[in-house]
Amino acid sequence: MTMINDHFATIVSQEGESSAALLEDIASQVAACRRCPLCEGRTNVVPGFGNPEARVMLIGEAPGKNEDLQGKPFVGAAGKYLTELLGYAGLTREDVFIANVLKCRPPSNRNPQPSEIEICTPFLRDQVRAIGPEYLVTMGNFATKFILKTEQGITGLHGKPRTAGRFIVYPVFHPAAAIYDRTKRDALEADFAALGERLKQPRA
Ligand code: SF4
Repeated sequence: MTMINDHFATIVSQEGESSAALLEDIASQVAACRRCPLCEGRTNVVPGFGNPEARVMLIGEAPGKNEDLQGKPFVGAAGKYLTELLGYAGLTREDVFIANVLKCRPPSNRNPQPSEIEICTPFLRDQVRAIGPEYLVTMGNFATKFILKTEQGITGLHGKPRTAGRFIVYPVFHPAAAIYDRTKRDALEADFAALGERLKQPRA
């Protein structure tokens, strides 16, 4: 695996309070956040959801329409497919924590802007610190480029684990991009199956 030198390499687990309490506190801060203009158009914030003790944390791009309406990540068609993909790795939604780079929906699902990513991502860093997962599964270009600090696209990076500090970063295609693309579906399902094989090894 390639050892990379990036900003996530400096994160260490937070001692003291429980992961669940820390995540609750972060979710409260997100709910009150008006640091960027995306707060104007949101119905709900989408801080993230799942197991506070997760070994695997999945990171997507930003909430879409259904997520904004329900306040939960990956609840539409892409979410249904993600649940199926987790099965390829022997995981359920209860096993993992799912979050996005941005916590509020960009208008018309446009791409996140660099300024929004810069302002919002301290929340994601805090979530990673609170959970202390072994794997960061980055879904799609935005999450992968942000966490690996790379300009390389997901097509060349998917399924190739890298270490960043104490984490293993495992990039995969975004489920929404693969729903109607057979080639990406095959790659995504193979990558989740390979992740499942890796998870059979005890946590390092
Ligand atoms: S996207 Fe992030 S920084 Fe912007 S308002 Fe929402 S929570 Fe705050």
